[in-house]
Amino acid sequence: MKHLLDIKALSASDIHALFEQARQFKNTPIKQSQKLHQGRSAMALFFENSTRTLTSFQLACQRLGIDITALNIEHSSTKKGETLRDTLLTLNAMQTDLFIVRHSQNNIQQSMAEWLNHQTSIINAGDGTNQHPTQGLLDLYTIWQHKKAFENLKVAIIGDLKHSRVANSLMDGLTTLNVGEIKLYAPEALIPESRKTWLADDMKSCIQDADVVVMLRIQKERFTAEDPISIENWHQHYGLNQERLQWAKEDAIVMHPGPINRGIEIADEVADGLQSVILEQVKNGVLMRQALIHQLLS
Ligand code: ASP
Repeated sequence: MKHLLDIKALSASDIHALFEQARQFKNTPIKQSQKLHQGRSAMALFFENSTRTLTSFQLACQRLGIDITALNIEHSSTKKGETLRDTLLTLNAMQTDLFIVRHSQNNIQQSMAEWLNHQTSIINAGDGTNQHPTQGLLDLYTIWQHKKAFENLKVAIIGDLKHSRVANSLMDGLTTLNVGEIKLYAPEALIPESRKTWLADDMKSCIQDADVVVMLRIQKERFTAEDPISIENWHQHYGLNQERLQWAKEDAIVMHPGPINRGIEIADEVADGLQSVILEQVKNGVLMRQALIHQLLS
């Protein structure tokens, strides 16, 4: 594997191998894992905001002994009119082993891989509304830790699916792992055409007997004039509170990729409740990214 651009490129056994590698890193002292890739270098190019993903990649690289530089895009030459291709070729000339890229344009990392003739590895850290494969992997790993097998699981995903690269990667990964059932709930305008067969009639039938409930943020920054959705009554119709969570199985876990908007898609009592694994997802993010980078560079 040279790059990770789209989670659909991974087979079920690739995903399980990453679970196993992440599990091993969990039990490996950092001093030991830091010897694995000493002298290698990575660059993080984030053209969109990030808290979790960027810091998680930075920690993952540090724990593998990789020097990582995060380019401050605001102060870079792309602001002086340099093309993205020229910026990339310039940084690549500095002998980088890995680029980690987040961008608002769908599929841009694919073009970047081609500009570099596939010589340097690229990880997609989120492209527009398309894919966020490392988030998908850490979500799958978190589900696997709690539920062990996917075949009999019901996964409910609620919120702004239309603009969610997180949901795309998760749904694609779940499909590869042969998940029992996926159910979605949101205003119809926020469900992508290709996923409409999974749309539930109401919130109750979406959550009913679910093993995993995934809540998504409304991505207002990606809304266009064609998305006339108001968030005023969102919580009332699409928000998860403790009462609604009772519809799911007793041992259901609640997930959210973050950043969470408390009181909109999720109530405090659920976000901070016993069934929430939101901070576990964050913790697993570092391990999963370590596992992936180790595989790409080995
Ligand atoms: N952090 C995730 C992303 O970059 C989810 C979100 O922003 O809502 O796509």
